[in-house]
Amino acid sequence: MSLKPTLHCNLIGGQWCEAAEVSENINPSDTRDVVGLYARGGRDDAERAVDAARAAFPAWSQTTPQLRHDILARAAQELAARKEELGRLLSSEEGKTLPEGIGEVGRAASVLAFMAGEALRVPGDRMAGLLPGSETEVTREPLGVVGVVSPWNFPIAIPAWKIAPALAFGNTVVFKPAELVPGSAWALVDILHRAGLPPGVLNLVMGSGSQVGGVLCSHPGVDAISFTGSVATGRRIAVDCVSGSVMKRMQLEMGGKNPLVVLDDADLDMAVECAVQGAFFSTGQRCTASSRFIVTEGIHDRFVRAVIGRLEGLKVGHALDAGTHIGPVVDDKQLQVDLSYIAIGVQEGARLAWGGKPLNLQTPGFYLQPALFTEVDATMRVAREEIFGPVATVTRVKDFDEALHMANATEFGLAVGICTTSLRHATHFKRHAQAGIVKVNQATSGLDYHLPFGGRKASSYGPREQGRYAVDFYTVVKTAYTSV
Ligand code: NAD
Repeated sequence: MSLKPTLHCNLIGGQWCEAAEVSENINPSDTRDVVGLYARGGRDDAERAVDAARAAFPAWSQTTPQLRHDILARAAQELAARKEELGRLLSSEEGKTLPEGIGEVGRAASVLAFMAGEALRVPGDRMAGLLPGSETEVTREPLGVVGVVSPWNFPIAIPAWKIAPALAFGNTVVFKPAELVPGSAWALVDILHRAGLPPGVLNLVMGSGSQVGGVLCSHPGVDAISFTGSVATGRRIAVDCVSGSVMKRMQLEMGGKNPLVVLDDADLDMAVECAVQGAFFSTGQRCTASSRFIVTEGIHDRFVRAVIGRLEGLKVGHALDAGTHIGPVVDDKQLQVDLSYIAIGVQEGARLAWGGKPLNLQTPGFYLQPALFTEVDATMRVAREEIFGPVATVTRVKDFDEALHMANATEFGLAVGICTTSLRHATHFKRHAQAGIVKVNQATSGLDYHLPFGGRKASSYGPREQGRYAVDFYTVVKTAYTSV
């Protein structure tokens, strides 16, 4: 007797609902492995979900902070208790290594726990008014219905850090995850639902960006969109968000081309660790990944030799195998993008100093050796455009001033890093780097969940995510005057 595989449904108005189509969730480490079957919703499902979220908003927005805290805290506990199991699911659908997958689920649990606390700390102000007998107060209220649109590369952490503050501050949510990673999204929603959310407060509609995402960004019943993804999609969403009768609040977190500056006085071992961790782990598929190493002349050759030495010791393999350092690329489309940029780099005259070849391993998957380009001119496309894979470039510079100038000479502004033992250079870099996040002697990726996150220039638009700053996006301020 063959067992029928379970279909994971959308959650609309508190009911698990099938959709007209079903999609297979394929494991990028072994394309024969179907991780699960997931409903693929369309426009109708998205519209029903928005209606459900609207209907749930009045009651949910009036719930006590204690109730919202308790639900988020319960969900955080379950996530933390199941992090090995869900980490395995995450790594199976996204391709990051098992320790990285488990770590991400743990982070999502921490985010939920932190945001449970934030539900109790909604800030406000009370001030003396300027007219005689006038008292004023500034309060914060929930926005209404928030549409959450997320990318594939952090399939549980990013949804958690968008959904948790939305709920904590009294909003209702329609969540559309990336098509490639419905499993982690479904698990997160299932946990939050069972933690006690009333029907319609959190809705899940899995489906395509243009259909489900398109409805969320243009529907007058949605008040705000929190989006993370590429610059191209972000720009399209921004237009949709302001074109309808309701101009939506939006928060867009997008791409990066993050530099790591290495100065002559850097601790070489530390610089190499920052470079390799930041550029190649998680298969380079992090918006905060360093993809441009900007290195001063005196340390350049030693740095390149040492990075290559470290890359030689890294194992690319199945995400779930013990000993794998770098999992597969997420899918064939992204693999082809990575390979095309590697070819472009060679055509442009950069030197492919290491790696860059697709690998055939025991299981059919999207395996790619990390690639290191040297002799890279800052005008080359490989040094300017986001690739979003395990590909990094090294550009040689004369001194700190040239390095800072080059670090800032990009349309992006998400994360930047510097490796140096000079307090003067580190301080100057922190002050003058045109980015949302600056790291000194740390990899550009790997961030704390209690601090604000976001970038500048083409990398971000709108208020910051995460930490105590999340309240600025997920609440609207009201100023009240009373004559007494
Ligand atoms: P993407 O832009 O292709 O998709 C992101 C999400 O938008 C998906 O859920 C997709 O279905 C949806 N979408 C697509 N078209 C839409 C439309 N017309 N209307 C509404 N929704 C639509 O990005 P991706 O490939 O999933 O993720 C990779 C990108 O995400 C990279 O550029 C990376 O830098 C960026 N990213 C940024 C951050 C950050 O915080 N800055 C974090 C992670 C990833």
